[in-house]
Amino acid sequence: MTSKQQAPRVGFVSLGCPKATVDSERILTNLRAEGYLISDSYTDSDLVVVNTCGFIDSAVAESLEAIGEALQENGKVIVTGCLGAKGDVVRETHPKVLAVTGPHATEEVMGHVHQHLPKPHDPYIDLVPEQGIRLTPEHFAYLKISEGCNHRCTFCIIPSLRGDLVSRPVGDVMQEAENLVRAGVKELLVISQDTSAYGVDVKYRTGFWGGRPLKTRMTELANALGELRDENGEKIWVRLHYVYPYPHVDEVIPLMAEGKILPYLDIPFQHANKRILKLMKRPGDAENVLERIRKWREICPDITLRSTFIVGFPGETEEEFEELLDFLEEAKLDRVGAFMYSPVEGAKANELPDHVPPEVQAERLGRLMLLQEEISTEKLKLKIGKIMRVLVDEVDEEGAIARSAADAPEIDGMVFINEGQSLQTGQFVEVRITHSDEHDLWGEVV
Ligand code: SF4
Repeated sequence: MTSKQQAPRVGFVSLGCPKATVDSERILTNLRAEGYLISDSYTDSDLVVVNTCGFIDSAVAESLEAIGEALQENGKVIVTGCLGAKGDVVRETHPKVLAVTGPHATEEVMGHVHQHLPKPHDPYIDLVPEQGIRLTPEHFAYLKISEGCNHRCTFCIIPSLRGDLVSRPVGDVMQEAENLVRAGVKELLVISQDTSAYGVDVKYRTGFWGGRPLKTRMTELANALGELRDENGEKIWVRLHYVYPYPHVDEVIPLMAEGKILPYLDIPFQHANKRILKLMKRPGDAENVLERIRKWREICPDITLRSTFIVGFPGETEEEFEELLDFLEEAKLDRVGAFMYSPVEGAKANELPDHVPPEVQAERLGRLMLLQEEISTEKLKLKIGKIMRVLVDEVDEEGAIARSAADAPEIDGMVFINEGQSLQTGQFVEVRITHSDEHDLWGEVV
């Protein structure tokens, strides 16, 4: 990786006629304007651009040879110019090149350069600091991986507001993650409308990160994020939010068991009754989900499961609601958010018959929360005596407030450290849990 102080270096090989030379000059001008240094040796470059000629056979041979040499000496090569316009000849001879463009393609070449060798940050020109503008504290940050959603849950109007799923290029996401970690972030919260659908819109296209191919896909992204380290070489926390319950979610559980990403899954189930889920246009049913949860816990016993549910959905009968309570009792989820159905303007579910009266909705919500509180209290009690790694969020004269792997900021519980006055915000520390209530834990530094 190129350090902040050292500008990235690009090697440049320019072959062919004067028109090609003009193309080379344009690319070089852009590179310099953006702060890249131009290097005259392969070994001293972070990446090499070869501007090729494809006019006659001997020029083709010379270009292919130049690409081969650059690949051998440096390894990271972008090809542009006339040979690039001649079908697959470059890729067939040199499958390892990072990208191929035709002639007069300055912008395209610059795009590939940015992808494989990020632009140096210039504090005098760039409006946004290197790590972006953030509203969260220094030590954790949200990492948005896509926008929009391909589902059409009948209670939701997000797709009509934000459109269908558009995934960010995986190289950009990883670059942002790296910048955040370099700026001191210790915990990345991966968010989107539908995290497990990441890459569906681009057919899981292969992008690049650090010169390596990387698929635009949740599992591959989670794996790559799990490799990031802070300035002390310590692993950072990666937490997955809004994971729609697709079957391939099962793939990330082993990554949690290995400690690559946090053993935490925020997976909105919304209900447990098959008929209601169908009315919501959501997948799954209680039996199915319980079986999956059992398997997840088998693979990763420490997993924290957070989910959200809607009570009083149009047409929900008392029996169907009780099925949801039975499911919660059985599933023993760690964290639960529940909401009364409310008719959002434009949502399809508004047209369904038999809306549940608000007082019945409120009564059901109360029962559900009470049950979940009991479950949560019991689960947190089991943590007393355990040693846990926590991340400090706040320090004041009374002590420190931290979170464990089981607690996402703002929505889950906290770990209070009574004698934690000397700790620092953003510090990882081991605590022994001494006390618990229905949502939070108390502990002492070990
Ligand atoms: S609830 Fe989530 S998955 Fe369903 S349509 Fe809305 S954003 Fe998409």
